[in-house]
Amino acid sequence: MSTAPHHLVSRARHLAAEVLAPQAERVDQEGVPASSIEAVKRSGLLGVSAPVEYGGSAAPAAVARETAEILAGACCSTWFVQTQHHTPVQMLTKAQLPLRERLLGPLARGELLSGVAYAQLRAHPRVPVRVTRERGGWRFDGTVPWYTGWGLNDVMLLAGVTETDDVLFAFTEAREQPGLRPSPPMRLAALTASRTVSLELAGLWLPDDAVALRAPYETWAVTDRPKNTNASPAVFAVTASALDLLEGSDGDPATKETARALRTRLNEIRRQAYELADHPVPTERIDERLAVKTRSYDLLRAATTAAVVAGGGRSIDLGSPAQRLAREGMFLLVQGQTAEVRTAHLGSLGSPGRLSS
Ligand SMILES: Cc1cc2nc3c(=O)[nH]c(=O)nc-3n(C[C@H](O)[C@H](O)[C@H](O)COP(=O)(O)OP(=O)(O)OC[C@H]3O[C@@H](n4cnc5c(N)ncnc54)[C@H](O)[C@@H]3O)c2cc1C
Repeated sequence: MSTAPHHLVSRARHLAAEVLAPQAERVDQEGVPASSIEAVKRSGLLGVSAPVEYGGSAAPAAVARETAEILAGACCSTWFVQTQHHTPVQMLTKAQLPLRERLLGPLARGELLSGVAYAQLRAHPRVPVRVTRERGGWRFDGTVPWYTGWGLNDVMLLAGVTETDDVLFAFTEAREQPGLRPSPPMRLAALTASRTVSLELAGLWLPDDAVALRAPYETWAVTDRPKNTNASPAVFAVTASALDLLEGSDGDPATKETARALRTRLNEIRRQAYELADHPVPTERIDERLAVKTRSYDLLRAATTAAVVAGGGRSIDLGSPAQRLAREGMFLLVQGQTAEVRTAHLGSLGSPGRLSS
């Protein structure tokens, strides 16, 4: 018996087929256009996990993962710009503040798109962004090394560390303003299209009512650390798109056999990863999560490499999906990297037997 897909899964498929996939190669070279962001905003997908009473869909985690896979498999750059939005939505959903009443509705309904600037917190005890109490509000100084979606998103969730070693997250408008200056857009080996900049903060002042969360660093880190030990749906998405290419090529039996073998592994690793992601205690089974995540990277490399190899020289043309997927795959190897993930991945890459003849 088959059940109808969740309405957001249908919307994601429509968006991917009509807007994202047809222009993925051009977007990769020229940047995510505002028209794609408008289409994402209209789709309802920005509210996938937001509470229904604020205009969201409160969809199960499996639906959020499936829609993420559909978008990332069609255009990784557009997926990455919009994926930032879901952390601010989750944070506001848990906040008991007037800020929640002001912002959660517009974010859940897709009227506003939010970016994030908080990965630098993971450099602790280094403090790239320092927050100090000033004039009844908060002053931000330092450098945000990565901020995606500049010129595309409307607001940003910015984080720093206070002198009492608390993390402090606050919202501000995503535009140049006194105390906040963006770098030129970064030119990257992949995801240049995501309009990523760094931000120089020199006395940016935000009021108390812009604060979404203040908590001791360790309390925040305990819930943050395990998050990135899970494999990313985007990794499975780019892997699947590379296998679609392989299967779609007018391939010889060897190509088809490779595609079949990798597809079987994809289904298996994806099942294990989502089983672990659904485990009710996110701080448990960390070694297993890291092992599955590392295997998902191995598979990603194998699938995107196979798509390049199968296409021969034309794979290297900038209009070829194979090279785009390989570069997107390279980006996903470092996206959301933490010390733990880095160590596990490097350990696996250097393990005896991996390259033995
Ligand atoms: C294109 C792009 C766009 C991004 N956009 C955003 C965004 O919009 N918002 C956002 O918040 N983040 C963003 N990020 C950051 C991203 O999510 C990761 O946090 C980042 O890639 C981690 O790498 P890093 O080089 O900044 O961190 P680093 O701090 O240099 O290193 C990553 C981790 O490894 C550890 N580490 C580094 N070197 C060593 C070492 N020698 N020994 C042991 N451990 C070590 C660090 O402690 C850290 O936890 C973006 C990244 C990229 C590449």
